[in-house]
Amino acid sequence: MNQHDLLQKHFRLTPLQLKGLGKLKLKTIDDVLNHFPVRYESSGSMSSTESLVVGDKVTLIGSFTKIEAKKLWKSRRAISEGVFEDGNGRVRVMWFNQPYIASYVKTSVPVRMSGVVGGTTAKPYIANPAVEPVTVQEAIEHTGMFTLVAPDTQTLYAVYPESLGITSLWFRHTIAKIFTTRIQEELPDPIPGAVCDRYHLPHRPVALVWIHTPEKSSDATAARKRFAFEEMFVLQVIRAQERARNIARITYSLKDADTYIEKFMHTLPFAPTGAQRRAIAEIIADLQRPYPMARLLEGDVGSGKTIVAAATSYAVVHANPPGRTSGTLQVAYMAPTEILAQQHFESFIQYFKDLPLNIGIITGSGCRKFPSKSSRDHATPISRAQFLKWVANGEIAVVIGTHALIQKSVQFQNLAYTIVDEQHRFGTAQRHALSQKSTVTPHFLSMTATPIPRTLALTLYGDLDLSILDEQPPGRATIITQIVTDKTREQAYARMRTELALGHQVYVICPRIEEPDPEKMNALQAKSAKAEAKRLQADVFPAITVGLLHGAMTPKEKEDALRDFTRNNTQILVATSVVEVGINVPNATVILIEGASRFGLAQLHQLRGRIMRSSDVPYCFLLADSTSEISVKRLKTLANSSDGFALAEADLKARGAGDLYGDRQWGISDIGMEALQNLKLIQAARVEADTLVAQDTHLIQYVTLREYVDNTTRTLHHE
Ligand code: ADP
Ligand code: MG
Repeated sequence: MNQHDLLQKHFRLTPLQLKGLGKLKLKTIDDVLNHFPVRYESSGSMSSTESLVVGDKVTLIGSFTKIEAKKLWKSRRAISEGVFEDGNGRVRVMWFNQPYIASYVKTSVPVRMSGVVGGTTAKPYIANPAVEPVTVQEAIEHTGMFTLVAPDTQTLYAVYPESLGITSLWFRHTIAKIFTTRIQEELPDPIPGAVCDRYHLPHRPVALVWIHTPEKSSDATAARKRFAFEEMFVLQVIRAQERARNIARITYSLKDADTYIEKFMHTLPFAPTGAQRRAIAEIIADLQRPYPMARLLEGDVGSGKTIVAAATSYAVVHANPPGRTSGTLQVAYMAPTEILAQQHFESFIQYFKDLPLNIGIITGSGCRKFPSKSSRDHATPISRAQFLKWVANGEIAVVIGTHALIQKSVQFQNLAYTIVDEQHRFGTAQRHALSQKSTVTPHFLSMTATPIPRTLALTLYGDLDLSILDEQPPGRATIITQIVTDKTREQAYARMRTELALGHQVYVICPRIEEPDPEKMNALQAKSAKAEAKRLQADVFPAITVGLLHGAMTPKEKEDALRDFTRNNTQILVATSVVEVGINVPNATVILIEGASRFGLAQLHQLRGRIMRSSDVPYCFLLADSTSEISVKRLKTLANSSDGFALAEADLKARGAGDLYGDRQWGISDIGMEALQNLKLIQAARVEADTLVAQDTHLIQYVTLREYVDNTTRTLHHE
């Protein structure tokens, strides 16, 4: 047997089983060995024939006293019937369309049988159960039906992610058979032995046995920890290689960058927060190095990330291109939506209007340049061709835009700094597209308002350095967050009326609907948002205009809906959670979130951030449709805290990373997700990966690790 052998080479598989294995993406021996259990059941959790509940899935230990094959008289269908006994009683068992069952299920030998209880409480039966032989010892422990001395160990049974015809039972059998060949002892380990030993982690061969067939639960725990470490270690090696590649790149080194920062600060109507100063200093230090910056700026909504981007851009555009005494280096600033790009364009005009340089914007709906020829107060529309020419010859120093920025046709003369706002909207590929706009690699800053717990940031963005804005500008009104139910919904509407009467605006967010198919999910969410908009307009707020925004709309329709709300043509915006990212309508002071229990805390906080944009007191109403204690407690955490990072950590603990930001997938396995609870483990994986990559960047001496790295890179790029 070889690890790369196809399963069917060694196991007889029915077409149904092959299909099931296909669904689970398992082809080879190796695949099955790396298909880990989700949990373990101890033999103590076995049921008894005495207490069968119709509809329950049960596992029984005992033996068959009778099995006979029959044909149903009318349909001529094959049916086998048996009687199963476990020492406490008996239950009828039936197999449909399995005429040969009697040839491989024997009477009077101890077996474990699992299936769903059918029939009635008075006359229960179990149809088409899975049956596997057990040792006499096991049978004795549970039934006392077989005479032998019982050992006092408790056996653990692995429970796997299952599919058609591929049950946990199948996995246990198959893996036990694979283990008898001892192939696991030959399998190479991507983690160097010394590293395993340093953290007391079992080596791969032992860990495989422990994770699939643990003798005690501490073995299973140790094995799971080892595989979690393995996954994080491989990811960290990839990040460390990315960092190593980055350090080898050439960039514009801005020696005097720091001298312009104070000058910029003096032009601001307010003093920067301590956190803003820290982040700016970190970026400026990076800009002065000979290799490109790769940095992530995380800051809660309203923490003032734009100033950080503007101050550092200001320093960049003051530098001359290398070897020249005139002209400037260029900055590209990419935003996720046209509206945000417009907003940044206007802010940058304000910040830079006294400098003798050009600022441009490029989006799907055209190009503009500031200043216009005739006036230093205005921006003017220009043709795309003209725009591209001026960017290519370096005359436009600051280029702001949407995705349109990364098109091939946009070429720069001296691009020194790229900034991406709300980075989670852009994939790594797009990021690379932006950095490859010139032979000299530009400095790169990514900004996000999504609070990411440290473990997750290290794992997902481990190739980036991290700056955090953990301080809000002074003078912000504190948000009032209130939990309401269907009965007290009127309180929220009363507040909405008051605020609307003051000329303010309101968001109403419709519940998150979970659906495995994103298309269907969008459609369902759209339906609920449409219905709610209609109801609010007709029954609750007939005198004002209600707008609608949801994920199933075209980009143009979305932009229009947003523009109407921004211009106060609509006063209430009913939306699905698409408003989460970056809209800035300071006049909105109330947000009502329907079905709040269905959102993650971090996501609720993001939504709430939409109204923390001015000095008016903002109100957030959370409609709890579930009155369960846990869900109310979760919402109370939100009501009592305004720290996005603390909330993200709380979410990670309570609900797991999968739930943190909606339905995003990161290509991290369930076991890897467990690791995200463990900062020490992630840090250890990072330290070891750094050390190893520093010695042997291309992993010449670590063949197995290199294979793992290649495989992981391939999967990551597929996603
Ligand atoms: P975000 O981090 O969400 O992108 P912005 O950069 O849009 O935040 O800033 C939000 C608002 O706060 C803007 O109106 C900005 O002018 C203002 N602001 C930023 N920094 C400060 C500060 N240090 N003091 C006062 N107001 C600030
Ligand atoms: Mg912003």
